[in-house]
Amino acid sequence: MAELSRETILQALRAVRDPQGGSDIVSDGLVKGVVCKDGHVGFSIEVSPERGESAEPLRLAAEKAIYDVHGVLSVTAVLTSHVEGGPGAKSSAEAAPARAPRQSPQRATPDGVLSVVAVASGKGGVGKSTVAVNLALALQKLGLAVGLLDADIYGPSVPRMLGINQKPESADGKKLKPIEKFGIKAMSIGFLIDEETPMIWRGPMVGSALTQLLNDVAWGELDVLIVDMPPGTGDAQLTLAQKAALAGAIIVSTPQEIALVDARKGLAMFEKTNVPILGLIENMSYFESPGSNEKTFIFGEGGAKRTAEESGYPFLGDIPIYVEIRENADSGTPVVAAEPDGVAASYYLNIAEKVSRQLKRDAPAAPKIVFE
Ligand code: ADP
Repeated sequence: MAELSRETILQALRAVRDPQGGSDIVSDGLVKGVVCKDGHVGFSIEVSPERGESAEPLRLAAEKAIYDVHGVLSVTAVLTSHVEGGPGAKSSAEAAPARAPRQSPQRATPDGVLSVVAVASGKGGVGKSTVAVNLALALQKLGLAVGLLDADIYGPSVPRMLGINQKPESADGKKLKPIEKFGIKAMSIGFLIDEETPMIWRGPMVGSALTQLLNDVAWGELDVLIVDMPPGTGDAQLTLAQKAALAGAIIVSTPQEIALVDARKGLAMFEKTNVPILGLIENMSYFESPGSNEKTFIFGEGGAKRTAEESGYPFLGDIPIYVEIRENADSGTPVVAAEPDGVAASYYLNIAEKVSRQLKRDAPAAPKIVFE
């Protein structure tokens, strides 16, 4: 069978008309980043920021047009929106006016998945993805069946951290198979979208992309699905928190006050959406030079622990700065997989034990209610 070409895909998409557009979605310039590999097709449809999820029928029509193409095994179309200013501009979550998500929450875990747990941070660069990946691996080491969903659409890092560069396949043409690595099942928006396509997302679109990634993936039987959330606490994250039927959320912060201010916003966001907070993790707590027992508290000492105490949530543990953590994450074998018996891995394993205990509890703690 001849390999599908981008041209064939674009040709099929020319049959799709945008009711708000001129001729068809290709001529209107809405179709971006077509990826086509071994019968699996992915692309984005860029609509104006105002349209949000009202463009969902257009997305479905585009997917249907491609399903009908001979040789297509799976298709994933995502709605995106471009905000003037390019990748360096403020994220759409920040640029978007503050408002409640428009859709009523549709909370249900994907088939076969017992608990969905979000790993979130108030700001980027605190090590959220590193924690999500190593925590997923540590929970697997404790004997749980674990999935990892990289929903960090602003900067998906799971493909790099797990060393995955293949595209997911679909056995039935409907659901994508997650990619198995180090004993966990992973799915990332980075598997589906051309890395070179710069994308800035509006909140409601993030929600629809996440819903697809959650539900259109054949996760199989999982005890826990860890979701690496996009950083921040804007409209986008709020929508995610509402849609994902979360069993709980974990907030990652570094110890300095500026990061903790954002971490508190993260706590408030999950409180507002009635998501139980499993606890806080302090990352990059201190540096210990090899061979010495002396800890240098580069970002101040114990900030996240204090924040946890003050807000009444569990403190799940701290993780020091270790060169192995960064090196292993960068090289595609996270430290828990590379050196499971090492000191660095022990921090994640301790945290995983606490998380697993919390998930086993029958009734999670009732979330606090906050009035603004
Ligand atoms: P985020 O998801 O919050 O943006 P990442 O997980 O991508 O952050 O981490 C940012 C950088 O910090 C990465 O290079 C990662 O390897 C490194 N890093 C994260 N945690 C640690 C740690 N405890 N020690 C050393 N490096 C770390």
